[in-house]
Amino acid sequence: MTLRWLSSHHLALNKSSMSNLPPVPDNFYQNLQKKFDSAVESKDLIYNSAIQIPHIDGGLQFVFSLVPGLAKKPSEFKESNPKTKNDPFETVDSALSVLDSFADNYRVALNKFAVQKNHFLLITKQPVSQSSILTEEDLEASFALLRAANAQSGFRHIGFYNCGKLSGASVDHKHVQFMALPETVTSERSDAEAFPQNKFVPFPDNVIAGKRDTFKDDEDPLRESKLPINHYIMPIPTNYIDTPDVLHMRFSGVISRALTVFVKAEREKEERGEGEALRPQDLSYNVIFTEEWFLVVPRRKERFNDLSVNSVGMIGLLLAKSEEQLGLYKETGPIKLLENLAYPYEQIDFGAGDHDLLYTRY
Ligand code: AMP
Repeated sequence: MTLRWLSSHHLALNKSSMSNLPPVPDNFYQNLQKKFDSAVESKDLIYNSAIQIPHIDGGLQFVFSLVPGLAKKPSEFKESNPKTKNDPFETVDSALSVLDSFADNYRVALNKFAVQKNHFLLITKQPVSQSSILTEEDLEASFALLRAANAQSGFRHIGFYNCGKLSGASVDHKHVQFMALPETVTSERSDAEAFPQNKFVPFPDNVIAGKRDTFKDDEDPLRESKLPINHYIMPIPTNYIDTPDVLHMRFSGVISRALTVFVKAEREKEERGEGEALRPQDLSYNVIFTEEWFLVVPRRKERFNDLSVNSVGMIGLLLAKSEEQLGLYKETGPIKLLENLAYPYEQIDFGAGDHDLLYTRY
């Protein structure tokens, strides 16, 4: 963690008494860590520390993580059906429960198949579809947890939401996930030049640098020019804690563009005779956020070359459940993989578009 991040974070923390986000207990992260350790011990939770391999493709950083525990995780997305009772989040196993109730309508639980230590989930109490948009209430609950996790652990976390059946989601009950970002990645198995100072920097950090507090609500989202897929980055202003409605404003700005791209690309696909267009209700996308930015990536496929990627892959964290899969990532190449899972980059003038109209219908 950089000193710069720590000091700006502490400045923000001093304002916490003014926060309008739902309150998080002071001992939240400490309890979560204890719960994690005992759930690993009792085998209620599957976790093995991952082998991480830094990799560079197209000038962008990627980290391949070998996480053997993932082989045990059910991966296929099954739409929730009360008759078949296939909802693992209908109730939360007490060994994994961190907060039975949070912000009225949510629970917080550990991820049973943890990709990383202390990997946790925000889950709606009611069964809500994982294909539905994040609401203002979801965003405020998510940012309250993200902020508490950062402040109480000293590690920088990401939140992510795999939305829709092509997004890499496996559970059709609304949930947002949280985990610490790898900060330094060293490996003797690196195929690439080591990252500068072995530091992993998610690309949106570079894209938004210097723009957090100058970016205007009506500006088009930003992008990383080295990444040849349609993706949208929105900076989050430093004072979001005092005015959390800015979260919803920035998020809806970015989702409305994602929806426009999706509808346009699918219509064109059908016109070219390449198959039936997916419908707006099939919209799938990945959302990744930190306290500094949102990244949204619309998806056209769930897998390519037998590799299924979810939101974390979109910032370069590629998870392999076996050595064989690790080889497949290297063979395919991360950029080629993302190009096949998302929509290839296309410049779109959103100015006169009908994205707000589409968004209202979504
Ligand atoms: P997703 O795959 O994005 O839908 O996220 C669902 C997450 O829930 C996965 O990362 C699973 O590891 C995790 N998971 C699946 N079943 C359970 C369970 N019974 N309790 C806690 N976490 C679970």
